[in-house]
Amino acid sequence: MIVALVVVAAVVGLVLVGAVAWREHRHFVDAEESRRRDDELHRRHEDEVAESEARLRLSLDAITQGVVMADDTGNVLYRNSYARQFTEARHGEALVEAAVAELLAEAARGRAVEREVELFGPPRRCMFVSAMPLALEGRDYGSVALIDDITEPQRLDAMRRDFVANISHELRTPMGALSLLAETLAGERDPEVASRLAMRVQAEAIRLSDILDDLLELSRIESDESSERAPIAIQHVISDALSRAKPSAEEKEVPIETVLPALDLVVHADRRQLTSAVFNLLDNAVKYSEAARPVKVTTRLEGDWVEVEVRDQGYGIPLGHQERIFERFYQVDRSRERTDGGVGLGLAIVRHVATNHGGEVRVESTVGEGSAFTLAVPMSEILQPVGARS
Ligand code: ADP
Repeated sequence: MIVALVVVAAVVGLVLVGAVAWREHRHFVDAEESRRRDDELHRRHEDEVAESEARLRLSLDAITQGVVMADDTGNVLYRNSYARQFTEARHGEALVEAAVAELLAEAARGRAVEREVELFGPPRRCMFVSAMPLALEGRDYGSVALIDDITEPQRLDAMRRDFVANISHELRTPMGALSLLAETLAGERDPEVASRLAMRVQAEAIRLSDILDDLLELSRIESDESSERAPIAIQHVISDALSRAKPSAEEKEVPIETVLPALDLVVHADRRQLTSAVFNLLDNAVKYSEAARPVKVTTRLEGDWVEVEVRDQGYGIPLGHQERIFERFYQVDRSRERTDGGVGLGLAIVRHVATNHGGEVRVESTVGEGSAFTLAVPMSEILQPVGARS
């Protein structure tokens, strides 16, 4: 009996010890499992953080604006790739880096600040640097500086201002003349003088209307909105432009010769625009030549290009001005006699037409000998002998 009890007690003891050991083991296994799971979660979290950081960095590197982040003492923690170009910069561009450091230090003191930095280049550039404190719900996260290249917006703004100033100036001159002429005319008793004054009124009115026509034409061509492209033989364009230029050429006694190719050169173009471009070249050739100095218009095929060359034996253009004459309102000599009433929009029109047609306009000129302007546009696929078409 006692033996049996001892055996039972031993068995129970053993079972109890086993159970405790098993529980210990389970605890251990569970703890291990939970640590593994925590580690896994932690790793996944770290992966996610690294992924979103990489995404953020790549996005910041993709923007064309400099971003520099600093801690609350102004120490730089991060720069995107645009901003990094200034840390490696020498000379002028180092000015941007200096401005960033100064503005970040100010922003760290809680103030949003900004500054324009001129880089004299070349090319000349203007950068806009701004910095502001980063704070959220009363917590301070340091500061951020942004760097923008404002060269182009500044250039466009200056162009717009120049354009408005130029138009106002160009319109004010004939308007002033008209008002003065009208005033004189009102008090004039001599019919002969009155008739001369009336003719001058008419001339000023024509000048005014020419300026407005040029402005409208340029704006239409620049926006290229009502452009209508169709295959057209360049010969037709030349003859349209010639008939427009003829009256002033005859009046000035400047003969115009034409050299046309034996083939119909067909271009895919807006006839009105192209005619306007060739007319402007012809009009200038006549305007800037003395009487009896012939103007020659040559049309030819050069590779895949149809070229229209307008060559004069006129005053010529000094080398230093040859690049700029295609700008709006640019005139080599602003005196009325030499520009013959032009306002400097003709060649801007020609250049726009060339660009709209995937072509170009070039100039060669020697002062005292004359100028040759060449308008080149791509030839379309059609090329037929003259007269072969119905
Ligand atoms: P404008 O109305 O003054 O003729 P353009 O834009 O047609 O304006 O020409 C700009 C300037 O270029 C002219 O003012 C003139 O000084 C110069 N220019 C243009 N074509 C010729 C040319 N064939 N010969 C000499 N100068 C020219």
